[in-house]
Amino acid sequence: MSIKALKGFKDILPDEVGIWQFIERKARDIFRRYGFEEIKVPILEKTELFVRTIGEDTDIVEKEMYTFVDRNGSSITMRPEGTAPVIRSYIENGLFVRGSVQRLYTIGPMFRHERPQKGRLRQFHQMSVEVLGSNSAKIDSEVMAMAWHILQEIGLQASLELNSLGCTECRPSFKEALLGFLQERLPDLCDDCQRRSSSNPLRVLDCKSEHCQAQYASAPSIIEHLCGPCSLHFEEVKQTLTQAGVPYALNPKMVRGLDYYTRTTFELLTTELGAQGAIGAGGRYDGLVRQLGGPEVTGIGFAMGMERLVMLLGQKGGLESVPGPDLFLITLGERAYEKGFVLQQDLRAAGMYVMMDHEGRSMKNQLKQADKHRARFVLLLGEEELEKGEAALKDMRSGEQEICALAPAFKNWAPVILAKISERTKE
Ligand SMILES: [Zn+2]
Ligand SMILES: [Zn+2]
Repeated sequence: MSIKALKGFKDILPDEVGIWQFIERKARDIFRRYGFEEIKVPILEKTELFVRTIGEDTDIVEKEMYTFVDRNGSSITMRPEGTAPVIRSYIENGLFVRGSVQRLYTIGPMFRHERPQKGRLRQFHQMSVEVLGSNSAKIDSEVMAMAWHILQEIGLQASLELNSLGCTECRPSFKEALLGFLQERLPDLCDDCQRRSSSNPLRVLDCKSEHCQAQYASAPSIIEHLCGPCSLHFEEVKQTLTQAGVPYALNPKMVRGLDYYTRTTFELLTTELGAQGAIGAGGRYDGLVRQLGGPEVTGIGFAMGMERLVMLLGQKGGLESVPGPDLFLITLGERAYEKGFVLQQDLRAAGMYVMMDHEGRSMKNQLKQADKHRARFVLLLGEEELEKGEAALKDMRSGEQEICALAPAFKNWAPVILAKISERTKE
């Protein structure tokens, strides 16, 4: 009996991997242009890290975390998101001494035990970004502009939705207003919302029930409850986005699924035909570093879901397929095969992508192989050619063939072939 992958876990096959690499390459280039450095953090962390940062009343902590007891009896969790591990590392390794502002990004798998509906995987991949050590509203706008820039660069249409969640000064008055609103409608709300309305009223606003959402259409707006400094910060964020040419829409219902957000929060929603939903989201988390035992340092970040980007790009099509070998070596006879194998290694050492047949197939069959792998050139090496000290080089695009004179001393063949190929590809 064959063993299958776990439910909600998916292989990324060679045919799809080209799109993944394309997106990562584009994103890494944008990160570089904006001064971001890569950080790689572990997949496993202490459970406490996520309970303390994401919040006990969130869907993630309540229902979705891959939490288990390891062989030492410690409770550990496979990271459901990337921010908490990066902050943990930032504090543990004292990254704040490297400079006042740290711009970090990480790309990798995340794990949530969700119901595996269409497009919802239990292992999914995110690119996530954190800027630590700046309070400036300009940074918020720059981070959103960068997210926007990545989508532009990979060729996807999206809209940006923006909100401010205020701070510890102004959120209580909003909570109070919201609580009053919820009390009147309590019997009409789902079980989760009824429970959360007392433990964490803000959380109800991102309830997935349509019935609940219909009630919340007339809920009080957090933007109207912002304190002076939060209001000023929000104004500057909006102004800077406009200056940077990034269009946005306000969405006062957006509270995001995590407890640690303060002030700016945002979502990037796809506007590609026939698709809907968020492809990226983030926000400011000014108290988080302190809360995890670090210094008084503010931060902002976002994450983008790789699977969604891959799916949208795949639907659009038009991506160039991964190029095949530069050269496919066709050999006939034992001696030519032996020589060919050494030549293959020499050409690879010189930087070429080279393949050859090891199954002793006929020449016709080897040519078929070269075609199947989409080889750019083919080099024919037979007993007769070997005697004469020559080989036939075939351009698979134009069909042209030329005889390469090779020194009888086998050693210098690779540079001759390299020179011939680079001459032909220059034209
Ligand atoms: Zn405030
Ligand atoms: Zn609800």
